[in-house]
Amino acid sequence: MKYFSAAVIPGDGIGPEVMEVGMSLLQAIGDIHGGLSFEAESFPWNCRYYLQHGRMMPEDGLERLRPFDVILLGAIGAPGVPDHISVWELILPIRRSFQQYVNLRPIKLLRGLESPLRGKGHEHLDFVVVRENTEGEYSNMGGRLHVGTPYEMAMQNNVFTRYGTERIIRYAFELAQATGKTRLTAATKSNGINHSMPFWDEIVKEISLHYPNIQTSLIHIDALAAFFVSRPEAFDVVVASNLFGDILTDLGAAVVGGLGLAPSGNINPEKTYPSMFEPIHGSAPDIAGRGIANPIATIWSISMMLDHLGERELGRLVLDCIEEVLVEGKVRTPDIGGKATTQEMGKAILAQLYRRGG
Ligand code: NAD
Ligand code: MN
Repeated sequence: MKYFSAAVIPGDGIGPEVMEVGMSLLQAIGDIHGGLSFEAESFPWNCRYYLQHGRMMPEDGLERLRPFDVILLGAIGAPGVPDHISVWELILPIRRSFQQYVNLRPIKLLRGLESPLRGKGHEHLDFVVVRENTEGEYSNMGGRLHVGTPYEMAMQNNVFTRYGTERIIRYAFELAQATGKTRLTAATKSNGINHSMPFWDEIVKEISLHYPNIQTSLIHIDALAAFFVSRPEAFDVVVASNLFGDILTDLGAAVVGGLGLAPSGNINPEKTYPSMFEPIHGSAPDIAGRGIANPIATIWSISMMLDHLGERELGRLVLDCIEEVLVEGKVRTPDIGGKATTQEMGKAILAQLYRRGG
């Protein structure tokens, strides 16, 4: 019997709504696979916790998460707490302290869904974005001067270390190679951002020399964003800095059906620390409390978690079940054109899982 431990942080808004489905999925995986079981512990760290305690998580929060095999996060952020606090006091400390330097975000049109892009089908929309997850534009370095005067200014430094840049670029090449892909695209902006981005480009070129079978291109972020829409079939693996990767993947999500479907893994490839899996969407205050959030992004994130834990067959099975329910087309949440609730969508996928695996 294999046991995996999961720390679950449901968070705010629709986070707890989609994570309820996520918890049932962990249970279901244990039910259909006799040799595997998840022990999940839930942590109530969110914006309500912040309003009560003046911090997003307890002082020893990171130490408490450290022993778990994986972390599952719903979403964080609520009106009444500035977003930079909820992000900088909970999500970013986890990503950074646990060296989750890869943010893996598949952009793949699932069977049963149509892309809003005219003429683009499944054969055109299947690639992965590797987002740098620990440095870059999200540096926490900078400040404000002359506050309250007409000369007020704000500065934020970008930080690109050789160590941090090399490891993310190398990861992207290794991923391309391991998955039999032949094209690697690196997002850049070395025409306008004239210190960090030329450095990034140099490292991409240096590392590409070790992968002669992979065709490497550097594309400016503005053009790249347009290509995500006009010719998404041009991509296999896209590697990008922290901010560029963040923006590209919301766009990527939109061309394959929206944020309700888009999963991510914050991965520590060396497995020295727990990795964290989360839908890429936020807490969606506009639909929170109505029970209509799409849980597929969360379910797919758990499929990625299974891959990370070495349970690839199970990960594949979970993704197949999502696709089979979408192909059948009877149960869909409103964001993908249906009337189903979060619970109904989750139950349909779980039922498929029990049918296929049980
Ligand atoms: P958002 O992702 O919460 O919502 C954007 C739009 O997508 C909304 O219209 C929302 O209804 C829709 N949407 C998102 N998830 C959905 C789902 N599962 N099903 C159906 N529709 C869905 O982004 P936002 O509105 O910019 O941010 C809201 C809050 O979330 C803010 O506090 C922000 O800081 C936070 N946020 C947190 C994370 C995170 O926890 N990792 C990520 C992004 C934003
Ligand atoms: Mn984002």
